[in-house]
Amino acid sequence: MTSFDGERPDHEALLRELVGSEPRRLRSDHGDVIVVEALSKRYPNGTEAVRGVSFGVRSGEVFGILGPNGAGKSTTIGMLGTLVLPSGGRASVAGLDVVAQRREVRRRIGFAMQEVGVDDLATGRELLVLHGRLHGLSRREAARRAALLLELVGLGEHAAARMGDYSGGMKRRVDLASALIHLPQVVFLDEPTEGLDPRARAAIWAALAWLREALGMTIVLTTHYMEEADRLCDRIAIVERGRIVVSGTPQELKRAARAVTLEDAYLHSTGQALEVAA
Ligand code: ADP
Repeated sequence: MTSFDGERPDHEALLRELVGSEPRRLRSDHGDVIVVEALSKRYPNGTEAVRGVSFGVRSGEVFGILGPNGAGKSTTIGMLGTLVLPSGGRASVAGLDVVAQRREVRRRIGFAMQEVGVDDLATGRELLVLHGRLHGLSRREAARRAALLLELVGLGEHAAARMGDYSGGMKRRVDLASALIHLPQVVFLDEPTEGLDPRARAAIWAALAWLREALGMTIVLTTHYMEEADRLCDRIAIVERGRIVVSGTPQELKRAARAVTLEDAYLHSTGQALEVAA
């Protein structure tokens, strides 16, 4: 287990305390927790951001949506997280329709966004407690989890600082922590480690892997980092111009392309380098 930083070897203990005595309570064995069928999005300006994607995500799985900028990753995850209204097809999360039952869906999910808009005058602790209260936690439990989560994402010392004084990376980490406060069944993370330094990135990976392992949390993330997708994801869908080009486990993608790295597999399936395409 990678600790968040050199001075904090008790990362795993924090997670254990957060999760409590009910390991794997979020995992259900009822097949796919997310079902996506011919989902599409056409923005009012005519942009066809997502052009009929279909996939399933199993309970307790880490599922990665990989692709260059503009491929439709944020739009796809936004539709699943009820933040973007689909223009065609359908999707369900935990058996609930993301349009017709959006309120119920929202209770079961956490969402950490790329563009974080936080209240600059509030402190990190206040943000987390507020989120916890909105999800029905008692003040005491919200405060307990807020302290643990802030510690976990390396912001323990900054819990009482105003978020206006946070760096971009700190804002992203506090947003991630707030997405987890109610220990959601499914968590959606849009580019969770973008802009973080390698140490912070490794810590986020470790925390997510542990939450999945200990709690059976299902994690859907977008990324354009190959290494992240390869290390973290059980399965990956590579998207290009609103369509899924190929999907499978990192091993399957590499094997199919006779590639050693996911980067080579990506080149094989899309015919272009991700960094260049981005
Ligand atoms: P990615 O997350 O892979 O970078 P996005 O889902 O953000 O891709 O964007 C997919 C396409 O949709 C891009 O061409 C982008 O410019 C466009 N797009 C995204 N959001 C909007 C919006 N609110 N209105 C119009 N076009 C948008």
